Amino acid sequence: MAGVVVIGAGQAGASLVAKLRNDGYAGAITLIGNEAVPPYQRPPLSKKYLLGEMALERLYLRPESYYAEAGIDLRLGSHVTGIDRAAHEIVIGDERLEYEHLVLATGSLPRRLPAAIGGDLGGVHVVRTLTDVDAMAPGFVAGARVLIVGGGYIGLEAAAVAAARGMQVVLVEMAERILQRVAAQETSDYFRALHARYGVDIREGVGLERLLGDAQVRGARLSDGTEMDVDMVIVGVGIVPDTRLAEAAGLAIDNGIAVDGQGRTSDPAIWAVGDCASFPHQAGRLRLESVPNAIDMAECVAGNILGKAQDYVPKPWFWSDQYDVKLQIAGLSAGYDRIVTRDGGEAVSFWYYCGDRLLAVDAMNDPRAYMVGKRLIDAGKTADPMIVADAGADLKPLLQR
Ligand code: FAD
Repeated sequence: MAGVVVIGAGQAGASLVAKLRNDGYAGAITLIGNEAVPPYQRPPLSKKYLLGEMALERLYLRPESYYAEAGIDLRLGSHVTGIDRAAHEIVIGDERLEYEHLVLATGSLPRRLPAAIGGDLGGVHVVRTLTDVDAMAPGFVAGARVLIVGGGYIGLEAAAVAAARGMQVVLVEMAERILQRVAAQETSDYFRALHARYGVDIREGVGLERLLGDAQVRGARLSDGTEMDVDMVIVGVGIVPDTRLAEAAGLAIDNGIAVDGQGRTSDPAIWAVGDCASFPHQAGRLRLESVPNAIDMAECVAGNILGKAQDYVPKPWFWSDQYDVKLQIAGLSAGYDRIVTRDGGEAVSFWYYCGDRLLAVDAMNDPRAYMVGKRLIDAGKTADPMIVADAGADLKPLLQR
């Protein structure tokens, strides 16, 4: 009965079990998740679902009936409390479950504000799970004053949805500019201007000193001394990989659960995939927090469990929806030394280079720039900056070079 046991019924866990079954794995498969609902997509949580434009069932990655039909034992609302590596068993409260292969797909945990500055007051929310977003819904109403802490993609998406809802939105970002950790100045400038058009008050270089209120948040004091009244706070200050089980089991940790090129942890019977795992990349290690990574890595590891012995080669891409702007990102921009702008009016893209090498593209309402950029980056090719910068020039011929 041992078979494959997967801890974490999120994007990566669900992708892995489906791929295993589709590709002919005949043994037992158990998928264990501590949330109450079947595996679902998280991206709409800060987009259409938060806006109330997407029904719950449409979030599900597959209909609930799929798992039983595919012979996958889906256990919801079950929190795994330990791994007994010597016995090849996991522990769920009083129960033990044997495994031949164990996969850790435990995802990430959102960073929270410390209780000492009011992080535990009512009305202070994070956006990670369906439960988080459902808890936010009653206060997410026109006219309410919301403070968003953190100007990364989650914070900006929440700001866009709140503004669309008719809320009064202030967003504080402690760093010099929004998106500083993940994007170029040009992309920050683009999104700052976009939010300003919708009345979002973005304050950069300003942190939160503390939240005010007794049981319920009523106000906030910012690092520049400003005090403001607020009805709700949304915290988007990043996530940390959920390595708790792996650490307790003595597995190697290095910016997430450290795996080898094939996705195996320091214990050959245990694999890790998705947000929680860091894998070898260039001279160091990389951990990605995205749906495409969760799916691709999970499918690669499913193949390895079936004996393929293939290395995981990430092809990073990401997206963000804010108002009527669809941002698509190809590649990884770290290490860029210049940006080439392609400005076609509605469609704008920023191309990141290091020397002559194309590293990444941020494309706003420009699916063609994204598609061409992605194909070039995936193939290890570059793009002539003169052609890129000329918004009238066709990009497709770049693919033929
Ligand atoms: P998760 O989806 O987090 O799944 C991990 C699961 O494991 C969770 O359900 C967790 O509760 C469970 N678990 C953990 N420990 C245990 C345990 N001990 N026992 C049982 N279960 C356990 N990515 C994009 O590419 N584009 C986007 O636009 C985008 N938008 C996003 C918006 C939001 C609001 C959020 C939160 C994320 C967004 N992401 C986006 C990121 C993307 O959703 C994640 O990278 C992806 O979900 C990672 O999948 P995962 O399976 O590794 O982790």
